[in-house]
Amino acid sequence: MAGLIKREDIDEVRQRTDIKEVVDGYVTLKGAGLGTFKGLCPFHDERSPSFTVRPQVGRYHCFGCGEDGDAISFVQKMDHSSFHEAVEKLAARIGYELRYEDGGTGPNREEVGKRQRLLDAHKIADEFFRAQLLTAGAAEGRNFLHGRGFDRTAAEQFGVGYAPRVGTRC
Ligand SMILES: [Zn+2]
Repeated sequence: MAGLIKREDIDEVRQRTDIKEVVDGYVTLKGAGLGTFKGLCPFHDERSPSFTVRPQVGRYHCFGCGEDGDAISFVQKMDHSSFHEAVEKLAARIGYELRYEDGGTGPNREEVGKRQRLLDAHKIADEFFRAQLLTAGAAEGRNFLHGRGFDRTAAEQFGVGYAPRVGTRC
């Protein structure tokens, strides 16, 4: 779970969003003068438009059923989504990168932890196989490398390891 979206980013998204464009995706709007647009209300059944949008103040209002709000609450109601989901959708729409209270915008902490554990596991395996190359059982491997012109320094530099035979008899 990502953290809380920063307050100022929510305000920024609200300010930068043209509510008319957002509502236009759901409702056919027509200019009604004085910077107001009208359409059939998506929240109640009607034949004559009483749903108004005022882009200048960034709000909508329905004189029929009383629904009222801004671009965020509009998306919330239309998509049946949470406040945060609505803000994220609107931010994505205008290409705005949100910041979160815990400082993360990218992958969440769980993902980072998983990646780190994989890196750790890889490192441990790497160390194990390198150490195996120095054991008595790896004499054959060392001879092979030596024959190819690899000395110990070169083997370490290139991370050459030796996988011991476990549980097999030859
Ligand atoms: Zn209405």
